[in-house]
Amino acid sequence: MSKELNPWEAQAARFDFAAQKLGLDEGIWKMLRQPSREIIVHFPVLMDDGKVEVFTGYRVQHSVARGPAKGGIRYAPDVSLDEVRALASWMTWKCAVVNIPFGGAKGGVICDPKRMSQGELERLTRRYTSELVEFIGPEKDVPAPDMNTNEQTMAWIMDTYSMHMRQTVTSVVTGKPVNIGGSRGRTAATGRGVSVACDQSLRYLGMLPGDCRVIVQGFGNVGSNAALLLQEKGYRVVGIAEWDGGLYNSVSINIPALLEHRRKAGTIHGFAGAEAADSADLITSECEILIPAATENVLTSRNAGRVRAKIVCEGANGPTTPAADEILASNGVFVVPDILANAGGVTASYFEWVQDRMGYFWTEDEVNDRLDRIMMASFTDVIRYAESHEVNNRIASYMLAIDRVAYTTKQRGIYA
Ligand code: GLU
Repeated sequence: MSKELNPWEAQAARFDFAAQKLGLDEGIWKMLRQPSREIIVHFPVLMDDGKVEVFTGYRVQHSVARGPAKGGIRYAPDVSLDEVRALASWMTWKCAVVNIPFGGAKGGVICDPKRMSQGELERLTRRYTSELVEFIGPEKDVPAPDMNTNEQTMAWIMDTYSMHMRQTVTSVVTGKPVNIGGSRGRTAATGRGVSVACDQSLRYLGMLPGDCRVIVQGFGNVGSNAALLLQEKGYRVVGIAEWDGGLYNSVSINIPALLEHRRKAGTIHGFAGAEAADSADLITSECEILIPAATENVLTSRNAGRVRAKIVCEGANGPTTPAADEILASNGVFVVPDILANAGGVTASYFEWVQDRMGYFWTEDEVNDRLDRIMMASFTDVIRYAESHEVNNRIASYMLAIDRVAYTTKQRGIYA
């Protein structure tokens, strides 16, 4: 993989730049540059055909300075240690940007979930959890869903951990089903946070939702919820780009109707309310807001110069490479970086963890109100930082986060 596309290199480049701007103490710089713990497990799973397959999984805990490590688990064929490392450190910065009391972690298992049965996925999840049992826990490290994992995966993790502890421990994971300790509003929270980040960007730039054409790349949990909420708020969602092709409607795509079509057909393709379009073309099509909401390395040195959006609001983690950052900045594109734009998910995870520990559950309105307030305040914090330090939004959010984590690290001191 080229250096531009390695997520760990991408994270490190922004970290070093922001640390230098902050004049960060050399020792703290070295500490925060590396994850504090990296766990690699190789474990067997009994497959449906009676054969045993061995899978490799990772859990990287980047920092526990501000609280228990926090972050999702992804299942994908191309998961790598460098990717999980980058995602873990992004969780540290993300939790610090929204000022919630967590460090950062991420997990991943190399597997192809599209080709596995529910039974195989359950056995893989339970065995992976059991391999990590002494490293996770409500006060240690709290996993959550990420790519190709969902509330069912979290229910299996919670149950496996609870069986080992000989008692039910709901707060070991977030993103659970509501009836077993999940939080109302958690599933839509990342998309909701993205929509708040768009609202705040428009206020700042003096634009109106009705004048905004939105193109969403990735129509998973984050992209679909963002599209739905933005449309409800009066934005015109004109394009949806999926991995296997996209849709375009120059007026607006009816998102509830598209979701209903997908529920029946199993795909967005063939939807009567839009024309088929090429996904790579959609990313560089004319619009006011582009929302990459799938995976890393979508905006690179190859296509960033052709992006015509005024605002890029990152629903995914790491969708823009550092080389693309520079191109977007020189073209005057307003970027709401991932560690701010998609922080609504982990913020609602924090609410879930709090509710589980209290054993008292909030209404959806309460969750949404608190989420909106945190997203709005964090957006303002980042913009103020960008203005006062004369840096772009991405570097401002890294600086704000690193400053908070460094402050706590210094206060706690070095245990020797
Ligand atoms: N996987 C999500 C993220 O990247 C959520 C993490 C969490 O809720 O802990 O932010």
